[in-house]
Order: sequence, then C-alpha cells, then structure tokens
Amino acid sequence: MIEVLPIQSSVITKESANPGKLIVLTGPSGVGKGTLMRSLLQRHPELYYSVSVTTRFPRAGEIDGKNYYFIGRSKFEQLMAEGEFLEWAEFAGNYYGTPRETVLNQINSGKLVVLEIELEGARQIRVSFPSAFSIFILPPSFEELEKRIRSRGQDSEEAIARRLHRAEEEIKAAHEFDIQIVNDDFETALHDIEAALFG
Ligand code: 5GP
Repeated sequence: MIEVLPIQSSVITKESANPGKLIVLTGPSGVGKGTLMRSLLQRHPELYYSVSVTTRFPRAGEIDGKNYYFIGRSKFEQLMAEGEFLEWAEFAGNYYGTPRETVLNQINSGKLVVLEIELEGARQIRVSFPSAFSIFILPPSFEELEKRIRSRGQDSEEAIARRLHRAEEEIKAAHEFDIQIVNDDFETALHDIEAALFG
C-alpha cells in the first residue's frame, strides 16, 4: 500500500475550516450524529464522508459500503495489524476503524473530510492530526439520550446498557473538543455546526 503523508502544515482554526482538512464529529451513541451528518452532506456536497469499517452486524436498512463496510473480527484484526486504519477503537463489543488510505488521499486532494467516530478514535486523530477540527454533540439530557437509544429499537438490552455506560464516559470528555453543540433542536444544532465549519 502507498503511504500518503497527512498534510500537517495547514491549520484549521476554531473559527473556520478551510478545504483540504479533517473534521471529527463525535458524541454519544443515540445523540443524533448520523442524522446531523446526513443533512450536512446533503447541504454541502463538497464534504467527503469517510465510510468506516466495523465488525458490528448491519442494522435493518444499513447498506454495506454506504453506512459501513461490514467485516468479520479476524479480517479487522488483520487490517489493523497491517496498519490500514487511521484510527480504530472497540466500542460496545465491536471494532470500528477509519480506512487510512482513502482518507489521506481525499485530504491530500484538497477535500474537507468528515469522520463520525467515537471518543477513543477522536483522541487518536488529535495526536496524528493536531490541526483537525473537532466537534462534540451533546444530548439535551442523559434521560433524553436513553429515550433515543431505546426508541431506535434495534439494540439488545445488553448493547443498550453498554452504550449508556460509554455515553456517560464520552460526555465527560466533551471539553476536549474544539466546540460542543447540544442537539436539542435539530435545525439549531445543524446551523451551529455549519457556522463553525463555514463561518
Ligand atoms: P454505531 O454502532 O451506533 O453505528 O456506532 C457506534 C459508535 O462508533 C458511534 O459513536 C460511531 O460514531 C462510532 N464509530 C463509527 N465509525 C467509527 C470509526 O471508524 N472509528 C471509531 N473510532 N468510531 C467509529
């Protein structure tokens, strides 16, 4: 595989993100990151969304290659050992990772690349891409988050418990991010993200 070095010289300030950069969107499971992400992509076709690799089973309606690349654990571990991930983490019993080569190629060709990833991965990106602009999405309350995770109706009770535990830990780290946005009113949250990214 060809190693492409990340562009480290250009800096994304807290005020604006210029083309050819990396944006990290993080927040607890169920906070609505996916929906915000989809709206952002529709409204800003210049954004490149990095499709992650995971060992989790597809949920109803999820498409391989669009929502995730769904693979088995041993294949994931092989790719991990080969250094194919820009970052990876284990979350609620499954592996998740960002394909290194695709993302670096997109950044190096001037794209604004968005990663929708959990906390551990976001921390790895902060080390390898100090200039990445990071956004943390917060729920209006923990009770509301639990309601949203349950209403999705697609996770087992055990998975829900793991996700809620992890959510508590993630929320404690929200201050590590460049900006924090509360997803109470969807339109307001979307507008706040756009204002942070595009001024
Ligand atoms: P879900 O199973 O609900 O789709 O995702 C669980 C968590 O994994 C979410 O917080 C999501 O943002 C995160 N995630 C998805 N893809 C990646 C990835 O490539 N790397 C990391 N570190 N987290 C990811």
